[in-house]
Order: sequence, then C-alpha cells, then structure tokens
Amino acid sequence: MPSKPVLIIGGGISGLCVARLLVQRGIHCIIFEQSVMEKSQGYAITVRDWAFKPLLEELGGVTVDAFQNAVAVDRAFGGSGWVDLTFRNNETGKALFNPEPPKGGNQGALFRANRSALRDWLSDGLDVRYEHKLEGVRGTPGHVTAVFRSGLEIAGSILIGADGVNSSDAGIRLTLSASLVRRALLPNASAEVLPVVLFHGKRVMTVEAWRELWTNHIGASTVAAGVGDNFNTFITVANGTNSGSIYLDWTYSRARAGEDDALWMPTRSEIMKVPQHLLKEIRSKDLVPPFSILVDADAIKKDKVYNWRIWALQVSREDLDRVSERGVVLIGDAVHAMPIFGGEGGNHAILDSVELFKIISARWTETLTAGDVRTVIQDFYNGAYQRGQDAVKRCAQRFSQFHQPIEKWEKVAETATRNGNRV
Ligand SMILES: Cc1cc2nc3c(=O)[nH]c(=O)nc-3n(C[C@H](O)[C@H](O)[C@H](O)COP(=O)(O)OP(=O)(O)OC[C@H]3O[C@@H](n4cnc5c(N)ncnc54)[C@H](O)[C@@H]3O)c2cc1C
Repeated sequence: MPSKPVLIIGGGISGLCVARLLVQRGIHCIIFEQSVMEKSQGYAITVRDWAFKPLLEELGGVTVDAFQNAVAVDRAFGGSGWVDLTFRNNETGKALFNPEPPKGGNQGALFRANRSALRDWLSDGLDVRYEHKLEGVRGTPGHVTAVFRSGLEIAGSILIGADGVNSSDAGIRLTLSASLVRRALLPNASAEVLPVVLFHGKRVMTVEAWRELWTNHIGASTVAAGVGDNFNTFITVANGTNSGSIYLDWTYSRARAGEDDALWMPTRSEIMKVPQHLLKEIRSKDLVPPFSILVDADAIKKDKVYNWRIWALQVSREDLDRVSERGVVLIGDAVHAMPIFGGEGGNHAILDSVELFKIISARWTETLTAGDVRTVIQDFYNGAYQRGQDAVKRCAQRFSQFHQPIEKWEKVAETATRNGNRV
C-alpha cells in the first residue's frame, strides 16, 4: 500500500517551506491551517542567507534576486529589502553603532521580507486547507490520525507540527498552544513571557512622503532602529504597494517597570485602543525625525495598537522523543519560539524545514514503515534540536540587553568604534 500523506499542521513559514519542498520532490502532503485564507500577515521579517540560501538551493537554484523580487518589502518600487541596522539615538539622531554592518554587493546577507508575500510565494501549488484547526492526534509512527475541530479525521504517515506558538493563551507561564498536540503531548513545555512592554502600530503614507521624511535620516534602509534612554523606537517598512503607498510598522518598547506598571498586560495579546498611559509616555520623550513623526502620540491616538508579548520557549529532547512515539515531529516556533526583536525564529523555521525535508526525502519510499518514520524524526532532532534551543537562549539574552540607559548605549558605541564596527 502506498505511504499515507505527510500531514502538516500550520500554514506559517515552516509548514509552507517544508510542504513546498516535499511537493517538489513528489511527496504527497496536505497543510491544515486554522485561519482563513485571506488573513493578512502584514508585517515583515529579516531573512538571513544562512537560512534562505539552503531553501533556494533545494528549490532547484532559485536566485536571490528572484526571491527578493517576489518577497522584499519594497519590491513594488524596485527595492530588495535592504537593511542598515545602525542603532541611532532616537532623541538626537546620532548614529551609535551597527551590530551587523552591511556586506558589499547587491546580494546582502540579510534583507526584509513581507510575511504575506512570503506566504503567497511559498504557497504556490500547495494543497492548503484553511479553516482546519487541529484538536487532537492519535496513532503511532506511520499511522497517525489528525483530528480537527470540525470532527474531520485524516490519516497520514507522519504529522509535522508547524503550528507556532499560540498567541491567545493567557498568563505569564503559558501552557503551549491551543493545539491539543502539545497540550496532551508536551504538558511540561512552557512559553515564558519576557518582562518587556512592547506596543506596535501601523502608519501608511505615500512613497513620496515617506522618502521625504526618511531618506535624510535613514537613507535607503527599510529599518530605522532607534534606541533611547531605557526605551526603544523601531520603525520598519512592512510593505510597499503598486499604487504608491507604503505601510510602516512602529514599535515602542521598554522593560517592565515594577509591579504597578500600567502598560504591562501579559494576559492581553491583542489589538486595542491606544492606552492613555502609552500616549502620556510617548509625549514625555523628546524624539527626533523620523521617530518623532512616526511614533507620535497625536498621530496615533485614534489608532489601534497591538500589545505584543515577547516569548521564549524551550522544549526538552525527552518531551520531543515522547511526542515522536505518536508519529509527530515539531518544527519552527512550535519547538523554539524566540523574541521577535533580534530574533531568528523565522530563519530557524526555514532551516528546520529544509533539514526535515532532506531527511524525509532520503527515506521516502512507496511503503514507509514505522521504523522509517522513527528514524526520520530522530535524525532530524539529532541535527536540528540543539541549534534551535541554543538560538532561543542567545536571542533571549540579546533581547534582555535591548533596553538600557543611553549612557550604556554610548559606551557600547565607543567600544564598537574601537573595534572598527561602526558605519
Ligand atoms: C512582528 C514580528 C516580527 C518578526 N521578525 C522576525 C525577524 O525579523 N526575523 C526572524 O527570524 N523572525 C521574526 N519573527 C518570528 C517569525 O515570524 C516566527 O519565528 C516564524 O513565523 C515561525 O514560523 P512557524 O511556521 O514556526 O510559525 P508561524 O509562522 O507562527 O505559523 C504557525 C501557523 O500555525 C497555525 N496554527 C496554530 N495552531 C493551529 C492548529 N491547532 N491547527 C491548524 N493551524 C494552526 C497558525 O494560524 C499559523 O498560521 C517575527 C515575528 C513577529 C510576530
């Protein structure tokens, strides 16, 4: 009997990447995504060459240019998502240092990709079943059954849990994801919410207005990284449209200020009316352009903002090995969610997908046995597990140094200058 399909739960970065590669290799797979097809993923992520180059290579040698043309945030007006990460004092405009000086040439080591564009590019030709929320898993390697909220049950040979971290669970220490895969199978896993206040909003303007405001201060970069005295203002280009509009994401963040911090809302990860305390706090800052124009209390007071919780999730290898006995392998944020600033989650999601694909592809036969599936999962974790868990630790550590007094930033800049690491 031919092998049953590979079942992929989650149509995010990791689920789509692995599906795209499997389909190209002729391996039958189905993706189940809980949300509706039209759901926009309007924000952007920094993609890095150590992750996207292996993907492009496995896709048969897609060029970096072609990839950038399809997904870069500023592709609509000929851009390649170019990033200059120079940290600037957001109250003076002074360039402090660049944690990752850009490399030469037009094929940068990193660039900004729009999430929706990336999803659309990856989804091409895939069998994605939207509005299918996984609620349970039964079975053993080679014979796994996914159970959906609708009551639908589908059998597969292996189930790839690519369903990320659930962002509606409440509490500081979270049980992981609403997905029963992990509630039932990883009861000990917990996502820690880091003690940081981070609000995010959107602005839209014409490309001309944006260039006028932006170019003198930030140049051609699609990111403006502003650090202040214990608070940060980051602005990123989320997307440009063919009709000449540009969508920008702004964030205002700082460390949690004690027990009575009015802006610390760990149980509310949602879009909300701008809190008055946030407006007051932003008004108390003395920002310079472009931060003063884009993170401006008067401009945003009628908007909605997102309260973003910043996660760090680690899972033990023992838990994963137990899960594998049901024929389930976890990839991406589902197994290693990391802070979104200075984070590498999307890149590790891509790399996990490529590595898992290669292992499945090498083992795939017309009749996949339980032993084959067990070996696939073990081989995958033997290579990928430690990389993902180390990245969570590294990114959480980096993120913990993200909000500091401006004198400390100045010191970091002096040290960087001494080391020649400055633009
Ligand atoms: C604002 C922001 C900026 C970021 N910036 C960066 C960056 O610059 N660099 C970087 O590397 N990373 C970044 N990240 C992180 C990156 O987006 C994630 O690490 C990446 O999306 C993880 O991919 P994933 O496939 O594991 O999970 P996701 O992309 O979250 O996909 C999971 C999918 O599973 C679906 N799902 C969940 N539960 C179920 C269920 N029960 N049944 C069916 N479907 C389900 C969800 O709806 C979702 O579509 C950023 C994240 C955010 C939010």
